[in-house]
Amino acid sequence: MAGRVDLDGNPIKPMTICMIGAGGFIGSHLCEKLMSETEHKVLAVDVYSDKIKHLLEPASLPWAGRIQFHRLNIKNDSRLEGLIKMADLTINLAAICTPADYNTRPLDTIYSNFIDALPVVKYCSENGKRLIHFSTCEVYGKTIGSFLPKDSQLRQDPAYYVLKEDTSPCIFGSIEKQRWSYACAKQLIERLIYAEGAENGLEFTIVRPFNWIGPRMDFIPGIDGPSEGVPRVLACFSNNLLRREPLKLVDGGQSQRTFVYIKDAIEAVHLMIENPARANGQIFNVGNPNNEVTVRQLAEMMTEVYAKVSGEPPLEAATIDVSSKEFYGEGYDDSDKRIPDMTIINKQLGWNPKTSLWDLLDSTLTYQHRTYAEAIRKAISKPVAS
Ligand code: NAD
Ligand code: UDP
Repeated sequence: MAGRVDLDGNPIKPMTICMIGAGGFIGSHLCEKLMSETEHKVLAVDVYSDKIKHLLEPASLPWAGRIQFHRLNIKNDSRLEGLIKMADLTINLAAICTPADYNTRPLDTIYSNFIDALPVVKYCSENGKRLIHFSTCEVYGKTIGSFLPKDSQLRQDPAYYVLKEDTSPCIFGSIEKQRWSYACAKQLIERLIYAEGAENGLEFTIVRPFNWIGPRMDFIPGIDGPSEGVPRVLACFSNNLLRREPLKLVDGGQSQRTFVYIKDAIEAVHLMIENPARANGQIFNVGNPNNEVTVRQLAEMMTEVYAKVSGEPPLEAATIDVSSKEFYGEGYDDSDKRIPDMTIINKQLGWNPKTSLWDLLDSTLTYQHRTYAEAIRKAISKPVAS
């Protein structure tokens, strides 16, 4: 660990990082990376700590003393500024970020993604502290190509769908399509951070994740989350596979996504942390353009991989179509296609994703099976109270 250098050959000095939202999916993997491969200290801020418990206890862990958990809600806790002041760098991951909430809890979504992030940006700017803020690929909204006629040859032209940080527009649906409340709040906080950089010299990096997936993402309804909760697609499909139910394809599963393995994506964040001269002032797409599938293809691949890792044959009718209104309720809308342009991250940080979709599903579904299969078996076999 000692003697590590950055991309320009300069020695990396240990730093203190205030990580807000450290107890979530991305935060837990980032904490793991920082504890096992660096000498940095982490002030881990969240309302939950279950996903990082293995890093906090027992006190004999090799990194004990380098990670401290602070249970606080950034909405209303005066300790936040002190923690940001103690750190060299703040990483803000805190957000409501499950699509099922965007149209059903739009106020909470907007407050969480914009209003609650304001003090974080302000404290960093006022105290001259560096900020890495997590935005989303959803700020791009729909592709230009989606407005072309279905049979237009131009739809095949990357100029109409590849999403570039510095040139692509942000295209959202109408206001009653409340799905876009999240994207719009994230866009405005990006603009505010950018303006703080331009007018007040804030040193910032904005990250736009493109469907990062892997172990510990979200929850399995009825096991470690509410029975009626709707997590993101990886956990929805995992839940269906574990319960031997058909996977639900929203509006036919025609939307396209690119999925990147969480461990590849964390490498990119690690490079941003340790190469401020190359990362400051940048907005980075972080995704895997080679792992594109329709949601239907994702369901088929997950069914095949799960049969392999669990040893259970797939159901005969492995998928079922549902309307978005039935699944998400009024006001849902969808991003049609998300291919990240990788030029900027490649040039600044030399980062490239490595893991294929098959391989990342293999390791993730092995984890899901090992973690949840027994609990699901028990939950299903419990007699229903009369
Ligand atoms: P997550 O829900 O697992 O993690 C977010 C964490 O923030 C949770 O642990 C939550 O408890 C915490 N949090 C929320 N509000 C808080 C508050 N007021 N005070 C303290 N803690 C609070 O989500 P994630 O997938 O780890 O995403 C992290 C960030 O990355 C989010 O900003 C999200 O919008 C962005 N993002 C992620 C993806 C992805 O592919 N996973 C895609 C696009 C954007
Ligand atoms: N989806 C689906 N079935 C599910 C859950 C999600 O068909 O059980 C679809 C959803 O409509 C979207 C895609 O899968 O088109 C990805 O959804 P996710 O919740 O992961 O978030 P998004 O990529 O839209 O931000």
